[in-house]
Amino acid sequence: MHPSPFYYQPDPQKPFFVPARAEKLVRRGPREYFMVGRKPDGHEVEVRLTAGTFRLGAAYDSGVLAEAVAAAALICLDPGHGTPPAIGRQLEPIGPGSPVTKIKDGGGAAGEAEAVLAIAKRTRTLLLRRGFRVAMTRTGRTYRGGNIERARYCNRRRAALMLRIHADGSTDPSSRGASMLYPARRRGWTDDVYGRSRRAAGAIQRSLVAATGARDLGLIERSDLTGFNWADVPVVLAETGFMTNPTEGRLLRTSAYQWRVARGLTAGIDRFL
Ligand SMILES: [Zn+2]
Repeated sequence: MHPSPFYYQPDPQKPFFVPARAEKLVRRGPREYFMVGRKPDGHEVEVRLTAGTFRLGAAYDSGVLAEAVAAAALICLDPGHGTPPAIGRQLEPIGPGSPVTKIKDGGGAAGEAEAVLAIAKRTRTLLLRRGFRVAMTRTGRTYRGGNIERARYCNRRRAALMLRIHADGSTDPSSRGASMLYPARRRGWTDDVYGRSRRAAGAIQRSLVAATGARDLGLIERSDLTGFNWADVPVVLAETGFMTNPTEGRLLRTSAYQWRVARGLTAGIDRFL
């Protein structure tokens, strides 16, 4: 039986996933190796291990598979905007204890809220297919909270990654391309997630550009984003393209291009984890 791979968070309560119990360890690269081992009850398992995440390559027992699904890494998708204006104009501190405040949601570019929701749903489909668990801050048109709530939603679920999905707007219609934002390092706010977020940003940006052919606007460090500063899990924000560019804006509204973006995001997440 060779099911599609499932992702694992290491769990010391599950002794058969402790590499020390492996009967055979096959290294396939600096961050990846296979473990062939045996559960305490004698069932044989083969597990692909990557840094921090255990990926089940094949299992010979349906009980193992059921456990693998339950323990799969959770990706928290956060499609931007959709906030009713009465809530969107409320202020919230940009980080814990900060005197600096920003509005909860300025509404985004025209068509953005709808396009990024469609991209998020397609990304969810692809992630589930690869064995990840997925949570979404919103699955409908509206979201009745701010960026603190969005971050806390993902924190509570101990997400392996919070992926915020947006699209850009500009007064210059020739502006186009995709960029990946990640949090600046700030002690007490983001120092615990800075390194992993930056690594995720690099992996996801590379895959997004490869999958879409969008102009590569690179990685951008941001210290002013509420949704970053309140996150206790690795977090990035994908600016998937410019709604205000005639060509890119039209593409971002099509199902085919939304799937391409989703494939890029998913491949990048897979590489990051
Ligand atoms: Zn936006």
